[in-house]
Amino acid sequence: MSIVLSLKNIRKAFQTASGSVQVLNGVNLDICAGEFVAIVGESGSGKSTLLHILGTLAPADSGEAHLDQHDITTLSDTHAANIRNEKIGFIYQAHHLIPELSALENVMLPLLVAGKSKREASEKSAELLTRLRLGHRLDHTPARLSGGEAQRVAVARALVNKPSIILADEPTGNLDEKTAQDVFDAMKTLCQEEKTAVIVVTHSMELASQTHRILRLNSGVLKHD
Ligand code: ADP
Ligand code: MG
Repeated sequence: MSIVLSLKNIRKAFQTASGSVQVLNGVNLDICAGEFVAIVGESGSGKSTLLHILGTLAPADSGEAHLDQHDITTLSDTHAANIRNEKIGFIYQAHHLIPELSALENVMLPLLVAGKSKREASEKSAELLTRLRLGHRLDHTPARLSGGEAQRVAVARALVNKPSIILADEPTGNLDEKTAQDVFDAMKTLCQEEKTAVIVVTHSMELASQTHRILRLNSGVLKHD
């Protein structure tokens, strides 16, 4: 299997009033195409920091990171924005959908940004939402969706551009157990069908145990759980 994402010895410290805090202390990780990996770890262990670096939203202090052969540690802002839009899908704990837009329009946005026609964007988005059992919710704004439905729309928005990898930071953290399982199932099924790699940060060992691999971030390094 081809490697989508490769990290070597990623380090990151934050300067605080009380000195420097070493959050990532040599993180190594290889993710293959279509692989579904969970990252677990105590609150404050650096999971979000790691996803920000992978997502080109923050720089590492040192180390190597390659996404589809692109070195993502030394990108210009414009190049980073292009890589983000083309190759990475983000899902967060809150859905972050645009409140004024319908479910369909929210999912269409990344395609329109990538230069697709309105018609193509609309067709692809409707198809994806239908596969996520939201075919009857296309015209609903986020306020008129349940928590689970809104998060499934966020899954569709993250996947619609066919990214190489999805970075999901506690995507089910705001949902009750049953809805969390439902959203997780939807994400898993769709990503497997599309052969999209996924890194999901979760507090739930129940959900983590349903992935291919569980990694624990502890003392700034990733280890097999
Ligand atoms: P997690 O997502 O595992 O809960 P984070 O990656 O959010 O952990 O945070 C890891 C550590 O880094 C925490 O101690 C946090 O306070 C610190 N931290 C995160 N972002 C910053 C920042 N921008 N400035 C200073 N410290 C930060
Ligand atoms: Mg976090």
